[in-house]
Amino acid sequence: MPLLIMCCRPVHGDLPRVAARDGCPTCRVGTSAAVNAMPTYCGRFAPSPSGPLHFGSLVAALGSWLAARAAGGKWLLRMEDIDTPRNAPGAADTILRQLECFGLAWDGPVLWQSRRREAYAAALAALQAAGRVFGCACTRREIADSQLGADGAPRYPGTCRAGLSAGRLPRAWRFRVEPGAVCFDDRLQGRQCQDVAADVGDFVLLRADGIYAYQLACVVDDAASGVTEVVRGADLLDSTPRQILLAAALGHAAPAYLHLPVAVDASGAKLSKQTLAQPVGRDPAAELRAALAFLGHAPAADMRSAAPAEVLAWARAEWNEARLPRTRAAGLECGPVAL
Ligand SMILES: [Zn+2]
Repeated sequence: MPLLIMCCRPVHGDLPRVAARDGCPTCRVGTSAAVNAMPTYCGRFAPSPSGPLHFGSLVAALGSWLAARAAGGKWLLRMEDIDTPRNAPGAADTILRQLECFGLAWDGPVLWQSRRREAYAAALAALQAAGRVFGCACTRREIADSQLGADGAPRYPGTCRAGLSAGRLPRAWRFRVEPGAVCFDDRLQGRQCQDVAADVGDFVLLRADGIYAYQLACVVDDAASGVTEVVRGADLLDSTPRQILLAAALGHAAPAYLHLPVAVDASGAKLSKQTLAQPVGRDPAAELRAALAFLGHAPAADMRSAAPAEVLAWARAEWNEARLPRTRAAGLECGPVAL
């Protein structure tokens, strides 16, 4: 019987729409006059296939699934495989099998970002036409010398904002960020504000290696799929203001946000594929119970022998966002919880 050790302790403080293409899952239903009819809730889970799902990504998948299902909404699956150098061979298929074994069923076909480059190109072209992007000739080394932003990454100093000097060619394309706070109300974390210009600067949409940036792909896909609610880990809180700016520039309504606490190890480091957190799926029912406990919904002892489907059905009926821990991160180190 596995033991997970956990508690919930705070650790730290207008342009044309890009149309959904064939094979793109969407929460929009019907055609013509009914094309914009949407269910009240459309959620999604968007893993990147850099490795199999681990406990932290199971928490994100489960939280977004439960929030969608408890609201009677849809839950889409998007494979964020556009950053091809980071894709691990076979990981996407493993993730699909893991979700199936947990009973986390998704609606419609999987959206593969690696097949969506035309949509990202169209969005970038629209932003270019509106004067919202500029070519950047800076090398990584040139930017590395600049002041660090809030997330510890170098803040872009605006070197190429006013145009490139003679003889320099654009390597990447950046979104032009104007000064001022971008604020949103996270359903769990409360009011969040960031001055993107001060903290991040003009951020990259098309990288020097020809890969569309996560921020652009995420916003384009959420809009194309009709996503109304984004439930994901708080490690992505810092990306949200950038995504809100991009959605507005592309003429899309921003979805509502709920950022779940991320699972951290005893040293406070996030459990991630990079830290080789163990893949889940060896004991799905026990792992589901552990993920539910992490999310403030620990099943009673009489659920210990329940199958995954039974655990999920219980959680769907019990789901209550008021029970979620209001922290950005929660540890696994404060005492054993027998599963
Ligand atoms: Zn530059």
